[in-house]
Amino acid sequence: MIRGCQLIGDRDSQQGTETFHTLAPASGERLPGCFHEATGDEVNTALELAEAHADTLRFLSILERARLVELIGDSVERSRHQIEERCLLETGYPSERVGMEFERMIHLWKVFANEVRLGHSLDARIDHSDPDRQPMPKPDLRSMRVAVGSVVVFGASNFPLALSVGGSDVISALGAGCPVVVKGHPSHPGTSELLGRAVLRGIQDAGLPSGIFSLIQGRAHEVGLALAKHPFTRAVGFTGSLRGGRALMDAASSRPDPIPVYAEMGSVNPQFVFPEILTADAEGFAKQLFASVTMGNGQFCTCPGVIVVPDGADCDAFVRAYQKIISNSGAMPFLNPGIAEAYEAGVADWRTSCQAKLHRSPQRSGPVLAEVSWEMFLAHRKALLEEVFGPSTVLIRCPNPDAFLEAAKMLPGQLGASIHGTKDELTSVAKPLLAALQRFAGRIVINGFPTGIETAYAMQHGGPYPATSDPLHTSLGLAALARWARPVCFQNVPEELLPDALKEANPLGIRRLVEGEWSEATRSEL
Ligand code: NAP
Repeated sequence: MIRGCQLIGDRDSQQGTETFHTLAPASGERLPGCFHEATGDEVNTALELAEAHADTLRFLSILERARLVELIGDSVERSRHQIEERCLLETGYPSERVGMEFERMIHLWKVFANEVRLGHSLDARIDHSDPDRQPMPKPDLRSMRVAVGSVVVFGASNFPLALSVGGSDVISALGAGCPVVVKGHPSHPGTSELLGRAVLRGIQDAGLPSGIFSLIQGRAHEVGLALAKHPFTRAVGFTGSLRGGRALMDAASSRPDPIPVYAEMGSVNPQFVFPEILTADAEGFAKQLFASVTMGNGQFCTCPGVIVVPDGADCDAFVRAYQKIISNSGAMPFLNPGIAEAYEAGVADWRTSCQAKLHRSPQRSGPVLAEVSWEMFLAHRKALLEEVFGPSTVLIRCPNPDAFLEAAKMLPGQLGASIHGTKDELTSVAKPLLAALQRFAGRIVINGFPTGIETAYAMQHGGPYPATSDPLHTSLGLAALARWARPVCFQNVPEELLPDALKEANPLGIRRLVEGEWSEATRSEL
């Protein structure tokens, strides 16, 4: 099944002479499969195909688009066994983790299919004309979101299923009506190929042209840059490092026709802890934090990487409890040697450059708590507030809870932030902190951790730079569809020329904002 080629529509392509392979993170052994680096010609063909079918997908009815999403999900589910088997080898994740991520991915195909069918993401709006209005007649105005065109998605290393070739960005882009060219992450090319083939089978089941999807593989940055710079690419979705995201943002904005890049990058997701919660149960809190930090071996963008605690006996009790848990913990393999090296280098830098006191597991690459005083934090805040991807957390001992506001002012954009406190603490003193967090965080959690993301309407997985490249959108949750379709206003367009979503009779029966009020009324109900 794994041929190591590019999937360009329904064609397997192996033009490139350069090849690469992957290592099993658990054993370091070379895995079967030899993967060809994509060539410039292959990138070009994939995007030409996507462009050739962009209108087919753009003007497909929402029912047909929903069916496409549903059928791809069914097809991916049918290949579950092979995909999970390869994913286990390529990631070194425990089988429960891979199983849960697979379930999540299948759930995403289903909920997005339903969302597309409901038509909410079209955001249809109608303002009727008023020819008698004085001093000027009012025109008939109708708007809806229309697919942007071909989208390039970069698969994430840390979610090889739910954020990769069969994951959220791909599902939402196809659901919004955009052809997709995916750049598979080079850490799991076999998983990517199996998923890519399953996606293509689903497209065939829906009777649609296979050119609406291609999978490009490669380890050379040139491949990714060529995809982002290609004239037919209309938008980019990315999850990964700040360095990678920034390179794509710069490439996209330096095009003659700049395009949006929706990059989800690093975050330290600060945790502000009021003292009484630790007085009540420092050990319980330490256990909960550890569970969140070590989820996926810390290779989560929502991993709590910074914890701010008032100095004193409660903080000491927490450190003792956390140190005890850490010293009994093992280490999971990192997804690839690059992530492992960056982790060790980042942790070593906290010790040598920032004089942090390290509490760590006896094993290399295990969880770390890096403790710093308030003075050290102020002196080295830039380095201490940078993501060290993995199960690492910086503990900042601040003088008192009033210093939370000062720390909050120094934080760059974040995906998430939490406040932990007793009921009394929350009602008496947390309000100013809640206000401060709204300036930089995309999601604020009370007495919980940002790991674990619901696929819901109100979910926001985004935040100001450097957490993402675009704080106005979310990469997860149902609103993720909005990235791939732009509003178009139809002024005084005759009924027979209007898209169905905007026709007066509402033949699709979708929810629309009519004269400022939500309505689902169809002609028979008017
Ligand atoms: P990455 O280095 O950002 O790579 C992600 C994708 O972007 C890969 O396909 C990579 O392709 C491409 N890319 C990277 N730099 C590029 C550049 N300069 N130009 C063009 N394409 C580029 O992420 P990673 O490999 O997953 O992990 C490395 C680090 O990323 C981690 O240590 C961690 O700090 C961070 N990370 C963050 C998150 C998050 O959710 N915030 C998730 C995963 C990783 P190539 O094959 O060409 O490198």
